[in-house]
Amino acid sequence: MNNCVVGTGYVGLVTGVCLAEKNNVVTCVDVIEEKVDMIKKGKPPIYEKNLQPLLEKNVKNKRLLATTNLGKAMEKTDIIFICVGTPSKEDGAIDLRHVENAVKNIGKNLANLEETDYPVVVVKSTVVPGTTEKIVIPTLEKHSGKKAGKDFGVCMNPEFLREGDAVKDFLNPDRIVIGEHDEKGGDKLDRVYSWSKAPRIRCTPTTAEMIKYASNALLATKISFINEIGNQCKTLGIDVYDVARGVGLDHRISPHFLQAGPGFGGSCFPKDVKALAKQAEELGLQPLLLKAVLEVNRRQPLKAVDLVEKMLGQLEDRTVTILGLTFKPDTDDTRESPAIPIIKKLLERGANVILHDPKAGEKVKKLFYGDKKVEIFEDPQKAVDLGDATILVTAWREYLTLDYSKTRLVDTRHVIDREKCLEYEGICW
Ligand code: NAD
Repeated sequence: MNNCVVGTGYVGLVTGVCLAEKNNVVTCVDVIEEKVDMIKKGKPPIYEKNLQPLLEKNVKNKRLLATTNLGKAMEKTDIIFICVGTPSKEDGAIDLRHVENAVKNIGKNLANLEETDYPVVVVKSTVVPGTTEKIVIPTLEKHSGKKAGKDFGVCMNPEFLREGDAVKDFLNPDRIVIGEHDEKGGDKLDRVYSWSKAPRIRCTPTTAEMIKYASNALLATKISFINEIGNQCKTLGIDVYDVARGVGLDHRISPHFLQAGPGFGGSCFPKDVKALAKQAEELGLQPLLLKAVLEVNRRQPLKAVDLVEKMLGQLEDRTVTILGLTFKPDTDDTRESPAIPIIKKLLERGANVILHDPKAGEKVKKLFYGDKKVEIFEDPQKAVDLGDATILVTAWREYLTLDYSKTRLVDTRHVIDREKCLEYEGICW
């Protein structure tokens, strides 16, 4: 098939590369020229494990193309995947600006398609329930002058990949959700995934949208839940990881997402839980549980600062090293990383901060540009040795083998043996 992917971020680029790997010809479209130029050269504009060799291979064999010209990309396309960002507004509501722009342009180009074989527009971006039916379809029809279900198909196909394991997850999904406006469109989308034996959920677009939000909200809830239990464990002198193991072996619960730590971050959980809660409020409902999940998560990273302050007596003019700035290892994504509120709080309390991250150091430095109290180090051991104390925020593999024998360490990931440190505090253990 000929596919077109609009938006070449973490989801779009991985979708494009993986579909090319499965013998489709894919054209990636982005509004940012630098990203398109990099993709054309086989260089990913983001860091994602195992992405680079697949991208290079598929660019070389001409199955993966890139352009800023949507009209050209859509000329012979079977499926158009919308993978643009859906950030939060100030009040937590979803910001659909990028989706609306992309859909408007897709609509205009649908109007120009003469010989078409029922192209299908697929929303892969995470959008609140009702968006495809109430916004995407009317916008496409308005700008194309054509009719959804008659001249073109529309589906909502949420993406569940995890950054850091995005390629593996895309190629081995647990399930494929096809929220179809029309059966013909759903059938065509199903064929794109013919290589996967994963169960299909064929449903309405609005149900598909809710499946995505409910999944992320439940995972975020598990994390805030175990962090709350962990905080109580810490006070009682219990290791919450022993508790989580005992809890997680219950097959009704599962051990996943029960790793207590500094709270969830990343580009999805925080904004998706906020958007779902906001929609609930707009519907006149009270999202009590979702709000509690967010509040537990807001407080959690700050516990690391309290622990380091307790260790050092006070923070004024002391130097604290932060190991890891991304919200998880194997990605360069720092969006909503717990490292950010930790750094801000340390600065607020007068500390100097040394930062290290294998992939995202420069990105975070820009956030604190000009602040003389923030320094970035290339060598993690040196960063640890020069700090009065260290907070390990991201469990990058290279941090596991550093020498902490002269270090006061706050471990937020339960990955360092306390015996190997001069002084050790776990965030919830
Ligand atoms: P991102 O910010 O990394 O990438 C979005 C890309 O879209 C950017 O490159 C941007 O330049 C481009 N773009 C914006 N407007 C455009 C337009 N009109 N035309 C063409 N390109 C345009 O976002 P992401 O992390 O890949 O997320 C995309 C969507 O997928 C979001 O809705 C997100 O919630 C969802 N999602 C993300 C993940 C994840 O782990 N990142 C997982 C599942 C779902």
